[in-house]
Amino acid sequence: MTTIFSKIVKGEIPADIVYQDETVTAFKDINPIAPVHILIVPNKEIATVNDVTPDDEQMLGHLFIVAQKIAADLGIGGSGYRLLINCGSDGGQEVFHIHMHLLGGRKLGPMLAK
Ligand code: 5GP
Repeated sequence: MTTIFSKIVKGEIPADIVYQDETVTAFKDINPIAPVHILIVPNKEIATVNDVTPDDEQMLGHLFIVAQKIAADLGIGGSGYRLLINCGSDGGQEVFHIHMHLLGGRKLGPMLAK
């Protein structure tokens, strides 16, 4: 099933893309919850963390390299940030194409709402 994120990766629908290479695309979240809120998405469509295979290991590791680069480019590498991946219903996943949230630009508070 083609997701909205696959359409963004292919340039079929618009997004504010901040980084793209042969394996990863990163763009601003349409509904940001922090001053910096970027979604880092593998170009390959993988629905959830449960669908990852050993073949994906290297490609998914690249998400961290891209996150580090974007954080530095946006000036929050030193102040810090949070990387978050939701999985499934209890995890609050809305778009079934794996993505890493890069959040920062303010104190983010506790990891979960109490
Ligand atoms: P999830 O809850 O699946 O981890 O996060 C999905 C994220 O995708 C949400 O933060 C939501 O605001 C964002 N989002 C959903 N649709 C679009 C879209 O069409 N464009 C962009 N840029 N972000 C989207």
